[in-house]
Amino acid sequence: MFFRHYPERVWQCIALFALTGGLALYSIMLARATHSPTSLWLVNGAMVGPLVRKPLSQARPLLISGFLGFLAAKQLLGDPFVASVLLGLCNMLEALLVSVAIRSRFPKINSHTRFMNVARVGLISALVACGACTFGVASAQHFWPTLAFWETFNSLFRSHFLGMVIAGSTSLIVVTKGWQLSEPFGRPWRLMRDLSLLALTTAAVFCMSRFPLLFMVYPPLLLLVFRHRFAGLVIGMAIVALITTAATMLDIGPFNLVHDATPQLRIVMAQVFIGVSCLVALPVALALAEHERLQARVRESELRYRMLADNSGDLVMRIRPNGDRQYVSPSIRELLGWEVSEFTKPRQDLIHPDDRERIADVVATLRAEGGTVTATYRLQHKEGHYVWIEAFARLVASPDNDGTTEIIYTGRDVTQRVLVEQALQESQAQLRTIADNVPAVIARVDMSERYTYVNRFVEQVSGETPAQMIGKTMREVRGELLYERLKTYLKRAYAGESVMFEYEATYRGRLLQFQAHYVPDRDAEGRMRGLYALTTEITHIKNVERELLRLAHQDSLTGLSNRRYFNERISSVLRQCVQFGKPVLLALVDIDNFKSINDSHGHATGDMVLSQVGQSLQRLVREGEVVARIGGDEFVVLSDNLANEGSADAFVHSLWERLHVAVAVGTGNVDVCMSIGAVWCKGAVSDDVLMKLADEALYVAKAAGRDTYRLLIRSLQDSESGAQAASRPGHLQI
Ligand code: GH3
Ligand code: MG
Repeated sequence: MFFRHYPERVWQCIALFALTGGLALYSIMLARATHSPTSLWLVNGAMVGPLVRKPLSQARPLLISGFLGFLAAKQLLGDPFVASVLLGLCNMLEALLVSVAIRSRFPKINSHTRFMNVARVGLISALVACGACTFGVASAQHFWPTLAFWETFNSLFRSHFLGMVIAGSTSLIVVTKGWQLSEPFGRPWRLMRDLSLLALTTAAVFCMSRFPLLFMVYPPLLLLVFRHRFAGLVIGMAIVALITTAATMLDIGPFNLVHDATPQLRIVMAQVFIGVSCLVALPVALALAEHERLQARVRESELRYRMLADNSGDLVMRIRPNGDRQYVSPSIRELLGWEVSEFTKPRQDLIHPDDRERIADVVATLRAEGGTVTATYRLQHKEGHYVWIEAFARLVASPDNDGTTEIIYTGRDVTQRVLVEQALQESQAQLRTIADNVPAVIARVDMSERYTYVNRFVEQVSGETPAQMIGKTMREVRGELLYERLKTYLKRAYAGESVMFEYEATYRGRLLQFQAHYVPDRDAEGRMRGLYALTTEITHIKNVERELLRLAHQDSLTGLSNRRYFNERISSVLRQCVQFGKPVLLALVDIDNFKSINDSHGHATGDMVLSQVGQSLQRLVREGEVVARIGGDEFVVLSDNLANEGSADAFVHSLWERLHVAVAVGTGNVDVCMSIGAVWCKGAVSDDVLMKLADEALYVAKAAGRDTYRLLIRSLQDSESGAQAASRPGHLQI
């Protein structure tokens, strides 16, 4: 009940109070009983352990407890109060100095701490602190009850320093390791047994005053250190020191054999014996502690790496030369469904039959040549399906140091990636097939105008294979002449414009027409990295286009242009005439009584007549003049070559005269006569007005009895509606 109600800190203070009080009582009473100086002052060292665990700010209650424990002991012995307080303060200062020095270098002492370093810091700080403290105590005692300063300082320093080394290390070990002092073996009774053996041996050595058998203390002490490391050392040394000092002060033990030795000298010899014992046992303890620390670190790092392998998502294996697996990571279960125990022997049967030979070759090469290899292959899952594994393997010397090698294998599931790659390859192959069979040349050109890709269709156009073109520049492949024509469009495409154009080129002796589309190619950041060129051969289309145009503009019967073409041309001819101030002549030619030719000789004869008239007309006109059939038996001639009225009249007259044709029909001939209505005009006039005037002239010619012509002359000042036709052949002023 009582223990539960008080916090741990209170208990620490009470324990420290009791400890310092008890130890002070023991040391002082022993010294006084034997009338000799104190040989071992354990009080200050006992405080170091608890103080090292606390930061300076929390050390005050412990210091006060220790101080009160010491003061209580002194008061029990009836010593003067003020002197006791001063001595107590000096003692607390000594403990504080040592603990602060250790704590500042080793804030947390655990199994990883190098005890050799702790011991070094502890010894140096103990020397300094004990020197300072005993100097203070000796000074105080020198002035108070007037004792010899040097003797006091000498004996006090030795007992304080020895006590600090023994009690300080003991308290440090106790607070660091707690009650598990025999931790390496885990059997507390064994520690008790070994301590008892040491205590009995030491007691026996010191009870025996006839022979100096001090060396007999070392075997049980070293055994203790060997078995229990630091715990054994400090507790063992504490036992040896207690028995040695107590026995020596009580005038028993081997040191009494020394002749004429004063109590002080015996105590010095006892202290030397304790110090030598400590020096003998300490290196063993330190070496063992270091060995253990290193072993622990090796174990820890092995555990850490083992943990990595055990918890890795990848399959990790160590494979011996005969194929047996030294280690298989548990991830095998997740990866392939197999248990580790099912995978400890070589499992070639699980490798996909198509990959087996390849993998066997890879492993053989690795074993023969060493180094590393990477392979992607299929392993069978326990459920039957295959998993794509990407494996990385390295041949290393076996860590067992038996001169053999082993393979360190790491494999990961890459099924998803392989499937995506396969789909990508498939779609690339499909695209390539499509691109190669598209009836167009598809090419990619980089920024230095070099072909980086050309599809196979190019062979059908130019006869070159893609392999012959790839890597060459456009100038090299196309030739200087064609390159000059394409250069403009290339520049525009490289400037980021998508351009479409047509061009002609001669390949294998044939003039071909092409339509090209240059599309800029940019990278993910939008920077230009080349262009795509899609080139289609359009020779056939162009020919068809031309033929369609011709058909649309031609009269099929006579081969002359038709009304549509005439309508298109008349506007542009009139525009040019106005622009250059040239006169224009329009003549309408109509076959006389054509209906009766049809009627009497048949439609075919009529067609022949039309065709022959058309041919005659074609012969009569000069280049640049337009002749067309614009109706059933109606033709038209448009000319801008007639500079004056006279030449116009002569032209129309010769037209009329030469169009008297005789068409052979069966045994006889059909004579064909024409009427012509023409208008010669100078100045701006519309096509409608021109047609209307020519029509009126034709009407006049027909009305005049046919087989004649009428020419209207129209000057600038004439109004368009004021045209008059004359009834006689020749020209007619309007
Ligand atoms: P006119 O002297 O007043 O001109 O009398 P015409 O008989 O020639 O009369 P018109 O010019 O009005 O007659 C044109 C005829 O031409 C009517 C039509 O049957 C005929 N015709 C029109 N197109 C064709 C054709 O392509 N072939 C043939 N054979 N006859 C056609
Ligand atoms: Mg007619």
